[in-house]
Amino acid sequence: MIDVLIIGAGPAGLSAAIYVERAGKSAVCLEALTVGGQIVNTPEIENYPGIKKTSGFEFSMALYEQATGLGAEIVYEKAVNIEEIPSADVDKNKTYKVTTESGKTFEARSVIIATGAKNRHLGISREEELLGKGISYCATCDGAFFKGKDVAVNGGGNTALEDALFLSNYCNKVYIIHRRDQFRGEPKNLEALKDKDNIEYVLDSTVVELRGDKALESVMVKNKKTEDVKEIPVSGLFIAIGQEPDNKDFSDFVSLDEKGYIVSDESCTINKSGIFVAGDCRTKKVRQLTTAASDGAVAALAACEYLG
Ligand code: NAP
Repeated sequence: MIDVLIIGAGPAGLSAAIYVERAGKSAVCLEALTVGGQIVNTPEIENYPGIKKTSGFEFSMALYEQATGLGAEIVYEKAVNIEEIPSADVDKNKTYKVTTESGKTFEARSVIIATGAKNRHLGISREEELLGKGISYCATCDGAFFKGKDVAVNGGGNTALEDALFLSNYCNKVYIIHRRDQFRGEPKNLEALKDKDNIEYVLDSTVVELRGDKALESVMVKNKKTEDVKEIPVSGLFIAIGQEPDNKDFSDFVSLDEKGYIVSDESCTINKSGIFVAGDCRTKKVRQLTTAASDGAVAALAACEYLG
């Protein structure tokens, strides 16, 4: 019987695992994809207190080593269902059975849901078909394939700005396509982009069509103010329009808000004893690496207190 089963091995889940193991309880993390979650693709982290500069990959590996070094186990399985198992003994807590996509089951005394968020898709025609053939959601992973070529980044947040900066180092030209003329990303990133001579802004505009035979050859963008539609020849489009939660599998077990985030607060509890939630997958105002790690600690300590 696992003390705390953690769904997700991103910064929130691994931070929770560290706190659970240090409290003398057993932690098992179920991870559907890669350890580290979204942050693994971030080229540079400069805002995590106490660490001046690191990469998302290095940070993720350090978290992984810290958690597993303390005894946490990582199992590469996608959790798809959580079920409550009432105890026959009234003095004993219920337990939880978590089932994975491959049909494996795990029984635990408590569960922390730390599923994070996944990249938002544009939702336009041919987006899925051209994935890996010009369409990418990760400049760090795929940028090198576009050396010397013209590419576009779509979005106006820190991810889009950092992707554009990263790509500008070896692509011929980088278009930044954004639906407004104001950026959500930090002024520091906008300042850094001013030093680049191969960046072109396409503002107040959205991507409406993807063109190309076997691979992406151009994007059609529509200016929201003038309604003009123009074609931009690019061989790569890096979509960086934010994240969205992936909690659909648990929708009959936990309450989700209208955007799909698990309804919770800073206590990381929900209205079910023994179930906790941490990181980007829950309702919250600030979704940052620091707040994900913080949630992991809060949820883990709450779980350990519940287990007694
Ligand atoms: P984000 O801050 O949510 O920005 C998403 C951008 O995409 C916004 O500019 C938004 O436009 C645009 N957008 C959203 N939906 C769209 C759609 N359907 N079509 C076209 N454009 C759309 O997402 P993010 O940049 O991935 O960042 C997520 C969080 O991680 C943020 O808190 C960010 O600060 C943080 N982050 C930090 C670092 C770092 O510190 N090194 C690096 C990357 C990210 P509007 O502005 O018009 O809404």
